Amino acid sequence: MYSTIKEYLSTHNVQLVAVSKTRSQDQIMKLYHQGQRDFGENRVAELLEKYKALPKDIRWHMIGHLQSKKVKSIAPFIYMIHSVDSMKLMDVIEKEATKVNNFIKVLLQIKVAQEDTKYGLSEIALESILTKYQNIESNVEISGLMGMATNTMNRDQIKKEFLLIKNLFEQSKTKFEYLGQDFKELSMGMSNDYDIAVAAGTTIVRIGSLLF
Ligand SMILES: *Cc1c(COP(=O)(O)O)cnc(C)c1O
Repeated sequence: MYSTIKEYLSTHNVQLVAVSKTRSQDQIMKLYHQGQRDFGENRVAELLEKYKALPKDIRWHMIGHLQSKKVKSIAPFIYMIHSVDSMKLMDVIEKEATKVNNFIKVLLQIKVAQEDTKYGLSEIALESILTKYQNIESNVEISGLMGMATNTMNRDQIKKEFLLIKNLFEQSKTKFEYLGQDFKELSMGMSNDYDIAVAAGTTIVRIGSLLF
């Protein structure tokens, strides 16, 4: 399955983050030996344990809701945080990244799903962060946007939601010129909807269950 998906994604120039939450170190190493280096986790404790045990050339992606007080523990090594869903979290990441002199890539998570449980920024909250950070020389690189579609069988709705995020991405790029070339990633699509995300122009997919 891994090589089929990998091939499909590379023909579309899309990067794969293998979502390894709840998977064992052995399962992760199986993909590692097939060349996979980007892995995503959604819990800090589990991430720390795996980071310590596994090869140091793995690029770890934090994809789940992150509490501000837990940023400190992952700041020294985290490669990308997909789930920046508040100004407060952004500020803490910036502070901790500076302290340990790590450069952290972040994606701003947009709320588009029709569910109360999904975290994410409104369009207005997104603009506040982008406005504030235009004057800050910082250790965080704002690399793009992330979003999750509603958990539904309605593929038209999913498509609509991904296109909303894509639009917001283009809009932000135009309005906030300072973002420049670094602002180039869209993290959308999981096992059930990654093909829709690819069609909508995503650059990163986060796939778990299909791979393991
Ligand atoms: C679990 C998870 C995924 C992967 O989901 P699958 O359906 O297993 O592919 C992607 N993104 C986030 C934020 C997740 O929590």
